[in-house]
Amino acid sequence: MTSDLDQSGWRQGAACVAALTFDVDAESPILAAGRRYADNAMAMTHQAFGPKVGVPRILQMLKDVQQPATFFIPGVTAERYPRMVEQVLESGHEIAHHSHTHRTAVSMTFDDERADFDRALSALGRFGISPKGHRAALWEPSWQTPLLVAEYGLKYDSSLMDADVPYLIETPAGTVAELPPHWSLDDWEQYAFLPEPKIGEVIQSPLVVADMWIHEIDAMRRHGALFMLTCHPFLTGRAGRLESLRTVIETALERGDVRFSTCEALAEAALGDAALIAGPLNPVTASAELYPDY
Ligand SMILES: [Zn+2]
Repeated sequence: MTSDLDQSGWRQGAACVAALTFDVDAESPILAAGRRYADNAMAMTHQAFGPKVGVPRILQMLKDVQQPATFFIPGVTAERYPRMVEQVLESGHEIAHHSHTHRTAVSMTFDDERADFDRALSALGRFGISPKGHRAALWEPSWQTPLLVAEYGLKYDSSLMDADVPYLIETPAGTVAELPPHWSLDDWEQYAFLPEPKIGEVIQSPLVVADMWIHEIDAMRRHGALFMLTCHPFLTGRAGRLESLRTVIETALERGDVRFSTCEALAEAALGDAALIAGPLNPVTASAELYPDY
């Protein structure tokens, strides 16, 4: 299946490239929903399971299957769980930018977004980390986010959804690779549940999830797509879910034509691939004449 594929393109001869990404949100998305949730010990400890139990387990699983991954860590999480950050670094995986507070960029002015972006870089910088990529909190970047990513010298973003292969975004500060995620390849929609704040209401069977993701990999092998998987250690760090993820990875490896890559290496390959679509973002403007003001 790989024989007629271009070895020099972003897939480097693989039928499908898979990126395993772990967003170590911990308490940050709950606090972004309301500072009052800091008083809810159940909600806070539910989230703390990610850095405390989920990450070490995930690191062991990645060691077992000998595949690389990318960990997107908000600044506040890095500050609260420094040992977890060191564990990820010691394991040799990539650490990338995932905002400071996990507040969404669309709820902020551009100045506030820039301040949050900058603070996250300082938080990771204290560990000697100079992230090469960014993922917007809740995958809600502003139209200017890629400009920030380029201005600060990062190589890629992973938040936009208008493709299932990498593409290149040209900004006045330089070109960044976009590595598109999707809600269907996110464990949040499958597993997230809290009574308050409502982060999800259904707890899916990990067996169903494994089936769904393996089916997607097989389809993507035919279509030459990017399997950008997003998992959260507070969710996928639970035992049954982690074993389903292991099954997905082992099944992909058995196929023989799926290559696992960090986002950083994938971005490098994408930036060097002249065949990829490149251009500036094309923001949507909604006419007040055509659409009501709400
Ligand atoms: Zn997140």
